[in-house]
Amino acid sequence: MSLLVVGSLALDTIETPFGRVENTLGGSATYIATAASYFVKPIRLVGVVGGDFPKEAMQRLETHEVDLEGIEVVKDAKTFRWGGRYHFDLNVRDTLFTELNAFQHFNPKIPESYRNTTYVCLGNIDPVLQRRVLEQLSKPRLVVGDTMNFWISGNNVELKRTLKLLDVLVVNDSEARQLAGEHNLIKAAKGIIRLGPKIVIIKKGEHGAVLITERTLFSAPAYPLEDIYDPTGAGDAFAGGFIGWIARTDDFSEENMKRAVIYGSTLASFCVERFGLDRFKDLTTLEVKDRFHEFRELSRFEEGDSSTR
Ligand code: AMP
Repeated sequence: MSLLVVGSLALDTIETPFGRVENTLGGSATYIATAASYFVKPIRLVGVVGGDFPKEAMQRLETHEVDLEGIEVVKDAKTFRWGGRYHFDLNVRDTLFTELNAFQHFNPKIPESYRNTTYVCLGNIDPVLQRRVLEQLSKPRLVVGDTMNFWISGNNVELKRTLKLLDVLVVNDSEARQLAGEHNLIKAAKGIIRLGPKIVIIKKGEHGAVLITERTLFSAPAYPLEDIYDPTGAGDAFAGGFIGWIARTDDFSEENMKRAVIYGSTLASFCVERFGLDRFKDLTTLEVKDRFHEFRELSRFEEGDSSTR
């Protein structure tokens, strides 16, 4: 099965209480593709960079078997740059700067050879562009999309048009509340389902994730880590792990969707263990599988003997 990822490619400057990195490879598409590469290869990626995008960054993508054909290089522009600073509470982040550069005029062009892609993951980009991607594809089997508060408040009409075309929406808890205008997350997810997606996944950072459909609710814990260095890209790594597993198995059953949520949480948990994408440099498929199995132990319990009932 094939997987297409569309989103930002960036050079990030990240500050956390544990250190700082400058101009490191980032972007929503990069995190999604890297996480998904543990399940599907090659990954088709469509994005844009400037002439200053480092050769080593391209090589990093290649080591994860990302096909570079869909990456547009605008020679006389700079690459999209983003800076973020995390507080002592790593759930709180300030955006320090967003320099769109080449990304400002991003108009995704899907190469001919990608048009029959079966699985699609639309990173957080303008909902109008997300639709433009879908218009160029023949008939994907499953479309997963991400969005953010910027589009929910800034371009709600276009976002609602795009939502009608998504099978799965992945959002964080505050975005789900904002999008549905509802505080309760279960009700918010059901409200979002009425807008189009059949499945809503709500990411709750260190509190895990829930998958909600009209008939199902599945709650996955986050992997309890003692050392978290940098939460950047965790949500995208989750989406990459989720769609990567579905694309590999080509199985839409409820049980397999639950497995995909756990694989999403697994990839997200590795992502935050080091700065940027560093943890993926030496992360093996065996480690991914081992942690997936550890998740089962996290909330498994025995019913106990009947005398206590
Ligand atoms: P997350 O931690 O899931 O919010 O993702 C962080 C990644 O999103 C970083 O690598 C940034 O380069 C990228 N990013 C930040 N702002 C934007 C934006 N407005 N559009 C697209 N990508 C962005």
